[in-house]
Amino acid sequence: MLWDMIQQSQIHDAQSSAADAFRRADQVRRDVDRSQATIDALALSCAAMWELLSEKLGVADQELMAKIEEIDLRDGKLDGKMPSAKQECPDCTRNNNSKRVRCIYCGTVLPRPPF
Ligand SMILES: [Zn+2]
Repeated sequence: MLWDMIQQSQIHDAQSSAADAFRRADQVRRDVDRSQATIDALALSCAAMWELLSEKLGVADQELMAKIEEIDLRDGKLDGKMPSAKQECPDCTRNNNSKRVRCIYCGTVLPRPPF
């Protein structure tokens, strides 16, 4: 009898943990989908701007690559990433990368940066 109650409690705990994990995975899936949509829109905008610059102003590929490197190095690291700014979580007050949608520590949705 006692053994059955212990087992039922463990089964309930495992089901609850599985449901929580499913909800978190679903949230991450939605975040990834939103991020991919943002990436697609930005890639399209970059392609359009680059075609306009090269066609209308004759800017060469080498100039573009040099500018990319210059911007990349603004944080002192040539890592192929946009230099990032810190953003404080309004809930837990810890610092996050300003590009994050949610706080890496507590999951709070972070306010969008002004750009
Ligand atoms: Zn937080």
